[in-house]
Amino acid sequence: MEEPYFSTTNTTDPTTRLAFEMRKAEYEFWVNQVPELDSDFELVTNSLYRTTGVNEGRIGHILMALHRLEELPKLQALQHRLYHLDLDRIIAINKSLNRLGNPTPKVVERIDEQLTAYLTPTRPNQTMRTQAQIKRKLNELINLADDTLAVTQGPTQPRYTMENWGDNTSAVTLSADPAVIASVDKCIRQTALELDCSLADAAVALLTGRTQAPEIILNAYKATDVPNSPAFIESVGWLDPARSNALPYTKIREMDPNQEVKGYVTPAAMAAYLEGFDGTCRYPGCNRPATVCQKDHRINHADGGPTTPSNLACLCQHHHNVKTDGRAFYVMDPHTRDIIWLFEDGTWTATEPSGPLAPKNKNWVQTFAQTMTAHRARAYEEAQELMRQQKTTPREEE
Ligand SMILES: [Zn+2]
Repeated sequence: MEEPYFSTTNTTDPTTRLAFEMRKAEYEFWVNQVPELDSDFELVTNSLYRTTGVNEGRIGHILMALHRLEELPKLQALQHRLYHLDLDRIIAINKSLNRLGNPTPKVVERIDEQLTAYLTPTRPNQTMRTQAQIKRKLNELINLADDTLAVTQGPTQPRYTMENWGDNTSAVTLSADPAVIASVDKCIRQTALELDCSLADAAVALLTGRTQAPEIILNAYKATDVPNSPAFIESVGWLDPARSNALPYTKIREMDPNQEVKGYVTPAAMAAYLEGFDGTCRYPGCNRPATVCQKDHRINHADGGPTTPSNLACLCQHHHNVKTDGRAFYVMDPHTRDIIWLFEDGTWTATEPSGPLAPKNKNWVQTFAQTMTAHRARAYEEAQELMRQQKTTPREEE
């Protein structure tokens, strides 16, 4: 089999080659500008502004991001081999990691390892990860790094505030656990759809009782056979085990990859399976959530294509049209749901599913749960040890 590579590093293609050289030259230029830690940062960015004309704010982001890359030796080594990360992706990585504050070296090491694996190509001509995908991945890794919080924190208490902004405007803010807000959001969105109005108008109609709240279904994906597994909720992402166990599940459905129905319409359970597997629109680089995508019959229903997951993929309206117009066409592995796209101009690329049911995320859930279980065992042992010490250590006289 051919060596895996991202489509943006295919240097046999002349256009890709030029873009690659530009990306590499730009990266190397800025690496050479990273100042020593003790230098005056403001002077450095101002001097670079005068010589390059690049906005000082952006210079700051670039230099801090490249400095961060120094702390991720595995990712840096990969970048020096592939030059596949442009400045914007490196900046996005730094911004996400800023959320960690001052992480321990162990946490940084784990994130470096897993992020490097995520940004290493696994098949030939694979579509490069988008900034949004990289951010989402990092958020997952950061939640995992923060597993101590996940165990000790209970659900977030809901908070409601009203504020007068002046200027003839007032505002209300409602904050609560992510799963609660996700159902509120879904309720507003569905009402907007039914009343054919804006989201804000729908929220007002609901809260003033002018319309009745529709019944909504919020899908959570959870590995029932893995103890301490996180759950995934559309529009929120992964929830830690404590939160995901506390969700008010009303119905538990087994995900069945082999179901098939007569007729064209994809039933709700099958749609939930497809959305959970695909994650987003499957067109290369498109980030539209699968929940708002259409379910495309790869082989048209009219031409005998069955309504079953192996013949259906999530495509947003726009990319569904691209496919229907014959400007692009795809083939799909029925088990992994990896897709090869073929375009009018004879080029092709591979995309992989990114939802919670996709093979890579299922593996991630396993690792997460194992880490969590180990973490709890360690915390229990430490507590036991502390109790033993308290019993045996003679107390100081008061
Ligand atoms: Zn799309």
